[in-house]
Amino acid sequence: MRVKAVRGTRDITPDEMPKWRYVEEVARDIFRRYGYREMRTPTFEHTELFIKGTGETTDIVEKEMYTFTDKGGRSITLRPEGTPAIVRACLESGLLGSLPVLKLAYIGQMFRYDRPQAGRYREFWQIGVEAFGSDNPAIDAEVTQLAYQLMREIGLKGLSLDINSIGCNRCRPRYVEHLREFGRRHIDRLCGKCVDRLDRNPLRILDCKEERCRIVTKEAPVILDYLCDECRSHFDRFKRYLEELDVPYSVNPRIVRGLDYYTRTVFEITAEGLGAQNAVVGGGRYDYLVEQMGGKPTPALGFAAGLDRIIASLDAQGFRFPTAEGIDCFVAVIDEAFGDALGLTDKLRSEGLSVEMEFRGRSLRAQMKTADKLKARFVAIVGGEEMKEGKVALRNMETGEQTDVPFDQVARVLKG
Ligand code: AMP
Repeated sequence: MRVKAVRGTRDITPDEMPKWRYVEEVARDIFRRYGYREMRTPTFEHTELFIKGTGETTDIVEKEMYTFTDKGGRSITLRPEGTPAIVRACLESGLLGSLPVLKLAYIGQMFRYDRPQAGRYREFWQIGVEAFGSDNPAIDAEVTQLAYQLMREIGLKGLSLDINSIGCNRCRPRYVEHLREFGRRHIDRLCGKCVDRLDRNPLRILDCKEERCRIVTKEAPVILDYLCDECRSHFDRFKRYLEELDVPYSVNPRIVRGLDYYTRTVFEITAEGLGAQNAVVGGGRYDYLVEQMGGKPTPALGFAAGLDRIIASLDAQGFRFPTAEGIDCFVAVIDEAFGDALGLTDKLRSEGLSVEMEFRGRSLRAQMKTADKLKARFVAIVGGEEMKEGKVALRNMETGEQTDVPFDQVARVLKG
């Protein structure tokens, strides 16, 4: 029996790859303009990192991690998200503190044992940024605008940005208590999961997708009414800066994010064309995480965008991706002249041209068909009488014109 790809994973075929590369290139160009330096961290970490970082009461840690014991007896987890790993790497390498504001970016796979469906995979890709060192709402505006601008430059349509503030350690506990009391009063109308959430993580009842919970929580107390003066002023300035940057937003008190470490600013961006899984970006501020992970208190924030979903929504929106435009030359071989063909192919490639050659010794007709399929601009036919005079027959596939060209002149003609 043939072995299949693991449930929730998929292959990105050569036909699909240009789409991914296109999105990554747009992202890297934005990172450059906004001063975010790219870095990479391992795909697996000590399990403890995510328990401490992502948070014990999150769905991710409670049920979605790929955790195993390695041969050395360590508990290892495939990273379900990027932020705790970036913080760990920064603490370990001394990067934190190297600049007044440290700006980092990453692109990589994440792993979550989630229920696979359209737009939700067990291995998926995220593009993310993190900025450490400032609690100024101006940087909340920069990071949020960067996310929005990234989606816009990629070419996504029908974008909505929802923002919220979930306060800080001073103002949030009172709100959470009131929300819990509210939930308990309506406990018989909540789903089973939300009943559990009341004890462990009551904020999450606000973003439950169950219709019955959504009806109940319409009446729930709203965090924005509980913010302390500092958090309120931070949120007001954040909104003002977004307006100055012409970034359209809606305040949505249901945005609480699934991770424990968020403080103050949280946001999500959705795009048209995706159905239920329509969130393409999620982000926010996490002012206590660095300290919680053993560093000095460092305000920070970031976001992660889902590449799989970005590409799916571009497809659904009928976006025309820039495509690879075929190759410069196909080297056809007759009379077994593979040695000469290899030589010519090598020479042309060393001149920077994209060249493919025949390796199966088929009829010239079959080779011409392949050249067409590869969208070759030219075909160089190696072998036969011309070769004896040091020439190849060079056919321009657009005009159909064919001329004999000396071996060492082919590159010049192709480039001309
Ligand atoms: P999160 O880290 O959960 O805030 O997710 C940030 C973004 O990553 C989401 O808005 C999605 O675009 C994407 N994402 C999260 N989980 C998945 C998944 N299981 N499959 C595909 N994309 C995902």
